[in-house]
Amino acid sequence: MKKILFPAFILLLIASCTNNHPKQEPTARQENTTGRIMVPQFNADSAYRYVAEQVAFGPRVPGSAAQQLTAKYLAEKLKSFGATVTEQEFSARAYNHEILSGINIIGSYAPEKKKRILLAAHWDSRPYADHDANPEFHRTPIDGANDGASGVGVLLEIARIIQPQLPETGIDIIFFDLEDYGPPEDTQNEDAGEFWGLGSQYWAKNPHQFNYRAAYGILLDMVGAPDAVFPMEGFSLYYAPHIVRKVYDRARSLGYENYFPQQQGTYVNDDHLYVNKYANIPMIDIIHQDPDSKNNAFFEHWHTINDNLEAIDRAPLQVVGEVLLHVIYNE
Ligand SMILES: [Zn+2]
Repeated sequence: MKKILFPAFILLLIASCTNNHPKQEPTARQENTTGRIMVPQFNADSAYRYVAEQVAFGPRVPGSAAQQLTAKYLAEKLKSFGATVTEQEFSARAYNHEILSGINIIGSYAPEKKKRILLAAHWDSRPYADHDANPEFHRTPIDGANDGASGVGVLLEIARIIQPQLPETGIDIIFFDLEDYGPPEDTQNEDAGEFWGLGSQYWAKNPHQFNYRAAYGILLDMVGAPDAVFPMEGFSLYYAPHIVRKVYDRARSLGYENYFPQQQGTYVNDDHLYVNKYANIPMIDIIHQDPDSKNNAFFEHWHTINDNLEAIDRAPLQVVGEVLLHVIYNE
């Protein structure tokens, strides 16, 4: 994903920034605020394990053995958690005219239900550590423990725990391939935009089911850093303000406003943009942005070789997983 340059970080609703006081520790909770609906309990240890298992395959870049093995792993995991799985193979042209092979992996629950929620993350990792402090690594593929694997880990854990008692709404979990194959930083120009999100662009124009519709979508990206904070992303506010409101209100009611501040972030070219543009499904992006970061307003190890498992923290995985579960079980 890539940041798009727009006016950055305007305080939206609350004058005082909530990042100044310590974060509330996530707590496992089962009861729902209404007291009526039982929301299953998210397990961050399990989500963490799914992050570690992806990273262990090595960088998930197109044409690699790691890509094939991870695709198989993700499809088998979803099947073992009771999902109906579609593996969508596709080709896409990269910024350098190379033709890449990608695999989007879709796990569906209660496919017969009309009202559906789409949950997604990208499972590929960036082929270039082009923001590393050391220029020697600028063409080295990264582990992508946070940038990619963290969101997938949270969604695999959600797949595991919703199975025994599914929510009222149908759920589709999509793991997009080839999100992060955009041009290296030193070759980027104004037209670089359409070369990010190749898997989501393909899916949005060729959904896995004819006439596929979802009421809305939620994308996760970079949700595993210890200092994770998710200001409201710009395209999410533009295309799906009601979903932003729904999710951030739910987060606040759970006591997680410090992770989900009522504050506007930047505009990020990520998979949700193409789902909004081409599939007309309102989709938001829960993505770590940090206005004080020296690394392009993302987390400190973004697109560096240090985006590895050591930099993953269970606490934000827990928070994001819990918020998502409370949103989907309250529909
Ligand atoms: Zn990335």
